[in-house]
Amino acid sequence: MIAKSKKNNSGIIGILDLQGGVYEHLDHLQRLGIAARKVKRPPDFKNLAGLIIPGGESSCISRLLNIFEIKAPLLTAFGRGMKIWGTCAGAILLAKHVVGEDSCLGLIDIKIERNSFGSQLNSFKSEAMIPRVSAKPVPLTFIRAPKILTAGKDVEVLLKVDDYIAAAESASVLVTVFHPELTGSPAFHRYFAVKCGLNPAVNTKIYTDQEWNPCSWTRLARNF
Ligand code: GLN
Repeated sequence: MIAKSKKNNSGIIGILDLQGGVYEHLDHLQRLGIAARKVKRPPDFKNLAGLIIPGGESSCISRLLNIFEIKAPLLTAFGRGMKIWGTCAGAILLAKHVVGEDSCLGLIDIKIERNSFGSQLNSFKSEAMIPRVSAKPVPLTFIRAPKILTAGKDVEVLLKVDDYIAAAESASVLVTVFHPELTGSPAFHRYFAVKCGLNPAVNTKIYTDQEWNPCSWTRLARNF
């Protein structure tokens, strides 16, 4: 059982804004009434309760972390208690072991294999019960996703499907190989906000697949 964290004063969740699905996460956090901002430069890491590393292309984000010189400030903020959630490419960047490659941040003891379902054309949707995260089925969107193959003893498995782990967490890191930010369910964003010690709204609407507008995040274009 992973311990619940203490309440955090800053109340802000950052989204790593180098490449990938940044606005989709901002959209979800805003629906939950959570203050959020894009994070790209060293000073942006100050006083964050949490950080989301979005899906995209892990090799690209990894190179940009070096180019923007923000690996060290990210690790410093993590050392000071900032929680991190990695979705898909983000989970790859957080893994301690990446099959056939060097690890990037190495902040959670999992072994992950990139592109483990095949090419972009092997992307798919499904849903699952994840009792720790929601009392309702959680929609899952896998896009050229990795598989988590093994998890260390300090890591709790939240969802196992067939031969792979799809979601897991340690005390300070959450990883999902799928994309909650592309669905109408706020369940994972709420779960992460609570992990960060924040108080997300409780009555946020859950949109069905049919109701959800996958371009809803474009409404943010002028505000961030
Ligand atoms: N295939 C990508 C990678 O290896 C991850 C895809 C995603 O984030 N949807 O980085």
